[in-house]
Amino acid sequence: MVLHTHVTPETHQHSENVWNPHNESIGNTPLVELTNLSKNLSPNVRVMAKAEWLNLSGSVKDRAAKNIIETALAEGKLGNGQRLIDATSGNTGIGYATAGKMLNVPVTLVMPENVSQERIMILRALGAELILTPAAIGIDGAIGIVQDMVAKEPDKYFHADQYGNPANWKAHYKHTGPEIWEQTNHQITHFVAAVGTGGTITGTGTFLKEQNPAIRIVSVQPDKPKHGIQGIKHLATAIVPPIYNPDIVDDTIIVNLDQAKDMARRLSQEEGLLVGLSAGAAATAALQLAETLDEGIVVTVFPDGGFKYLSMDIWK
Ligand code: PMP
Repeated sequence: MVLHTHVTPETHQHSENVWNPHNESIGNTPLVELTNLSKNLSPNVRVMAKAEWLNLSGSVKDRAAKNIIETALAEGKLGNGQRLIDATSGNTGIGYATAGKMLNVPVTLVMPENVSQERIMILRALGAELILTPAAIGIDGAIGIVQDMVAKEPDKYFHADQYGNPANWKAHYKHTGPEIWEQTNHQITHFVAAVGTGGTITGTGTFLKEQNPAIRIVSVQPDKPKHGIQGIKHLATAIVPPIYNPDIVDDTIIVNLDQAKDMARRLSQEEGLLVGLSAGAAATAALQLAETLDEGIVVTVFPDGGFKYLSMDIWK
């Protein structure tokens, strides 16, 4: 798929007129400041969020999906008809499915049946093969099913393995971290991120600590195993993703579903930011932390937008 910004007879010879979404619309997202929600903070404290819903397929996971697929293609693990397969709670799958169509890679996704209907509909629209697994076995059960399928037919599949593939966290080490470092003029003091695979926090956190070891890296986690905040993990009871590096994490803030929903509602109604539940969780933690500071720049990540959650009871 290519989109022409100016269609002229010479377009096919002049590639500067051609938008390549896979290359140009993933990453380099803006940093938005939560000015209204920060009103009661100390005047020297600012809270900002990376607007990751502006990535091509609508979430932070475009970054990981792009780097995982490009690395596999470069290493010859994909591209000879192998199907990319992975377990996903939705967003990584949407990233794979989008990139898969653009780069001609067939995609199979194994996903818990209780993810939002919007995610399933989007993936069907993008033509990915979907295998829905019982809600009771969760994402860890879906991971097990992928492992069995790959073990049975190793030549058919490339296991993208977002939970164990270093190309996931390296996408954030190479891009998300440097972007935040530059966008804050090297002034960031705290980085707050919700943890799913741990790719965002590990890659971004590692880069930021290398620039300035005083930057505090704070993880956001749900309060219980069946927490209802899609895309993030309760690490105390879940399989800890191999790419998650706890050594760079200084603190953890626990957020529950009600807090995430309330904050998602406040973000849309007070800031005009229609974002998802994990963004609500991230903002809850970032603002809680900011309340304890006299000065600083707290940066968090809003992983996706609110459209995929409209069927839930958040804004009703
Ligand atoms: N929020 C949402 C909505 C997600 O889909 C994900 C990815 N599973 C995350 C947060 C966490 O990102 P990461 O996998 O990089 O830890």
